[in-house]
Order: sequence, then structure tokens, then C-alpha cells
Amino acid sequence: MTITPPALSVFETLESEVRSYCRSWPAVFDHAQGSYLHDEDGHTYLDFFAGAGSLNYGHNNPVLKRALIDYIERDGITHGLDMATTAKRAFLESFQNVILRPRDLPYKVMFPGPTGTNAVESALKLARKVKGRESVVSFTNAFHGMSLGSLAVTGNAFKRAGAGIPLVHGTPMPFDNYFDGQIPDFLWFERLLEDQGSGLNKPAAVIVETVQGEGGINVARAEWLRALQDLCHRQDMLLIVDDIQMGCGRTGGFFSFEEAGITPDIVTLSKSISGYGLPMSLCLFKGELDVWEPGEHNGTFRGNNPAFVTATATLETYWADGQMEKQTLARGEQVERALLALVEENDGAGVSFRGRGLVWGIEFADKPRATAVCRRAFDLGLLLETSGPESEVVKLLPPLTVSAEELDEGLSILARSVRDTA
Ligand code: PLP
Repeated sequence: MTITPPALSVFETLESEVRSYCRSWPAVFDHAQGSYLHDEDGHTYLDFFAGAGSLNYGHNNPVLKRALIDYIERDGITHGLDMATTAKRAFLESFQNVILRPRDLPYKVMFPGPTGTNAVESALKLARKVKGRESVVSFTNAFHGMSLGSLAVTGNAFKRAGAGIPLVHGTPMPFDNYFDGQIPDFLWFERLLEDQGSGLNKPAAVIVETVQGEGGINVARAEWLRALQDLCHRQDMLLIVDDIQMGCGRTGGFFSFEEAGITPDIVTLSKSISGYGLPMSLCLFKGELDVWEPGEHNGTFRGNNPAFVTATATLETYWADGQMEKQTLARGEQVERALLALVEENDGAGVSFRGRGLVWGIEFADKPRATAVCRRAFDLGLLLETSGPESEVVKLLPPLTVSAEELDEGLSILARSVRDTA
């Protein structure tokens, strides 16, 4: 029997069994700065999870904190209705000038609600409304959120089972490399679309992650994404890129699909869009798709003004030039070198890795070892999480602002954790 330390007992007795991350990290966190968190007992942890990707610019980033404190001190609007506010206007103008215009992206901006799943729900609703069809194609091992619509296009059987009702109107197709390169891309998908006897309802849209974050850090090739866009155009389906985890610079460019040179019809963003860990999400879509009636998708918390303030400061500080992307790619090369050494050291022990920018996954053929590595890393002061359908992948998601030295520190704790669990 494990004995609960008194400091954790209220979480165990009062908080629901549904709690999740606090089970991986049995500490009570108190304060944080940059790449580090501190618990109430004075232990320090290097954070390679970055709030599940919501802290790309680190904890309590001083530039963003200053903007937030100034806004609060001057009694800027705090509540979240979607009124026109100065904070929202500044965000929209910055998003246009810093992100959309330089990339020649023709998007309108919708504020669908505070969380990622709100953005996905709105994207699915819009695609269905535009095309007048109900079916949406998703991919094996996709993760798009925990509300009913987004769960219906999510792969994980355990998470789907929590819905308690049939999850309908979604059809899964094989993600890139699902058959280890043995089957030509989209062979099955295209055959079903063209065969009048296949039983596939013509989809309104296809929803895809360029790198599957929860599904095991599965990286789609740029040519696969281009072929998917091409298929969507030919078959009159909208292409939705869910960039909630991989957008906001995680893979290098602000949008993860930039590298493939595609322009999705609809894009969802959340997690690090506010830059400060404050809830905020966006649904972006081509202007001609803006067929919403006023208020047809609504909600009390669609305009989180403090989040607009930190989001604007983030864009102006980190995205007005190309430095963030360059730094992320350089740090990514540093991770790749360390992981190559790790795999060499574990030659033949079933350890492999993959990733892009500053998102990497280390897969263990001995699946439970990934959880053991994360546990050992926690004891050594590094926060890591697993990913993949059987939690067989250790996921690296450090803040993009991580220094080269911090990255080295975390990578050597990781190497030691792998060694200690051999
Ligand atoms: N889509 C993707 C790709 C995600 O990674 C996530 C969360 O991990 C979501 C959607 C759901 O976002 P949220 O947890 O904010 O609802």
C-alpha cells in the first residue's frame, strides 16, 4: 500500500479520481520562472513539458508578466465576453501584422471559447455548415480534445470510451507511415471516396495534426501533407489543420504547416497562443468560409482580455522577426544530437526517436519503460510526460525559450534516467 504524504491528501480525498498530471508528479508546486518550477518543499524541477505545450515562452515570462500587471493595474477589462475592447483590437492588429500578412494567409479570426477543444468544435461545426455534410475524416492516433465532437475525431480508445454515448460522424484513416511505408499514401482513403459501393459518406472535411502530439509524436512528412491538401481540393473536402499543440512555433515556424507550403482552409490554435498559459483559443478560416450567423456559436468566455494582452506582447516580442524560429531549429538540432547519442548508447535495446523543432519523442519497444523513465526523471528533477496509445513514448516539450545549457541539463538527466531503467 502506498502512503499518501499529508501534503497531497486533500487532492486524494476531495479531488475527483479523474485528476491526471498530478499523479505523474507527486509534488505540490508553488512558483515557477522560465524553464523551472519549484515545489513547496523547496525542490526545483526543470520543465520539459511546458504546461502541455501552453508555455512555449516559459513560466511567468517577465516581458509578458509586465504587460499583464500593467493592464490589471490600470483596471483594463478582465471579464471574457466578446465585446470590442482595446485589448482585443490590439491583439487582432498584431496577429494581422505579425503573423497573417507576412505569410500571406487569408484568414478571418474567430474566438470560439477558452480551450483547444472549443476551437476544434467550432472548426467541425463550420466545416459541416459550409459543406452541408456531416462526416469528418480524422487519422489514426489523432487527438483533438475531450468534448463530444472533438472526441469523435480522436483515436484513443480509452478516451473515447469516456463519452458514454456512440461517437459518430467521424471516420478514421491511416496517418502517414501507419503501414511503415508499405502501402502508397492515401490508397485506402481515395479508393473509398471513389467507390460508390464503399459505404463512406462523403466527408465535409479532413482534420489533421502535422505532428501528432498525444498520439506518440508521429511526424507527417511534408509531401504527405501536400498530397492530403491536393486530395481535399480534388474531392471538395475542407482541410482543417489542428495546430493547437504544434502551432505557435513548436516545430519552428509559427504554424507547423508552413514547412509543407500548404494553406489549410481552417486552422485551430490554442495552448501557447496567449503565451502566458492563460486560456485562449482561435479558429482561423478562409474569408469565404465565414458563413456564421451572428451568435450562432457563442459563449461567456470567448474574449479573455488578459490573454489578449499577453498574446499581443508575445507576438510583438517573439514573432516580429525570424529569431524565434531560428533559435527553435538550433535547439532542435541540439536535442537531435543528444538523442542520436542516446540511441547509440542503447544500441539494440529497442530505443528510437523522432521529432521536429522542439518536440521530440523517444519510443521504447519495452513499452512500460517510458513511464519508468519519466518517473526516474522526476526523482532527478526533470518533468517529462509520456505519449502514444500505450504511453510508450517519452515526450520532450521544453519551452522554446529554453537556454542551450538548460537543454543540456535536461538531456543528460534524460540519458541518466534511460540508463537507470535499463
Ligand atoms: N488538439 C490538439 C492537437 C491537442 O494537442 C489538444 C490538447 O492536448 C487539444 C486539441 C485539446 O485542447 P484542450 O485540452 O485545451 O481542450
